[in-house]
Amino acid sequence: MPEGPEVECVRRSLKSIIGKKLQRIHLTELSQKYHKYQNKQTQFNQFSGHQIKKIERIGKFLIFKFDRKEVILNHLGMSGNWLLLKEKDQILPSHSKVLIEFETLPNVVFYDMRNLGQFKIYESYNSVLKHQPIRKMGIDGLLSTFPMDEFLLRIDKRNYANREIGSVLLDQKLVAGIGNIYKSESLALANINPTRLVKTLKNKERRRLGQAISKTLHKAVESMGSTFNSFRTPDGREGSAQNWHQVYGKKGGKCSSCGSEIRRVVQDKRSTFYCPNCQL
Ligand SMILES: [Zn+2]
Repeated sequence: MPEGPEVECVRRSLKSIIGKKLQRIHLTELSQKYHKYQNKQTQFNQFSGHQIKKIERIGKFLIFKFDRKEVILNHLGMSGNWLLLKEKDQILPSHSKVLIEFETLPNVVFYDMRNLGQFKIYESYNSVLKHQPIRKMGIDGLLSTFPMDEFLLRIDKRNYANREIGSVLLDQKLVAGIGNIYKSESLALANINPTRLVKTLKNKERRRLGQAISKTLHKAVESMGSTFNSFRTPDGREGSAQNWHQVYGKKGGKCSSCGSEIRRVVQDKRSTFYCPNCQL
């Protein structure tokens, strides 16, 4: 699943469609089968002749803003992504759901194999901010200055105290944009064992974790995200963050710092990878 850094790379890669005049937003026949594409084609017709002014990211969501008040909320789900179409009549990828055509190329298509993505109209930007889960979204781990004080406040909430930090980090109400990969990598960088209960983390460890999250997410964006099987940016680039991962997916391998065997633990049904020697 694309995490915050991959979604950010997608956002940046779509900048070539900003400011172009839209011919139409077309829902493919396939998209009509799935409830997350619940708006009708006629509702998308209102965008014809308008421009996309900005694409924002909140956590793992993208918000398309236009030169009109309606906005479109987009989530890539497990396997959704955008592809820039640089040629006219270019063959669409399978599982194409939404085609956006402009007066000039490139056009762009949203394809989504597992149909867990979302592409939905909201009447205004404010109304989308009230939408769950955006309304309760935590701090953005990709801010240029990590909001440490707010992180320390949020992690101190009572309902986290007796939970393992490895599962708490996936809660988007704490830091938005962290998924399974960057959860393991942030804990490895902070030298914190994922099975520690939050209440046992000392203040300096919490700070170290906040710094590690920020560093890991930013580094992932610089690397164009992690590509394990399918992730590409819309202009076709693969990510390379997997080349510097310390622990994710490396069960049984050796820790690059100490040589100990990397372990995997299951927390809330999700895998966490860690070095039992370096991460205390
Ligand atoms: Zn180690």
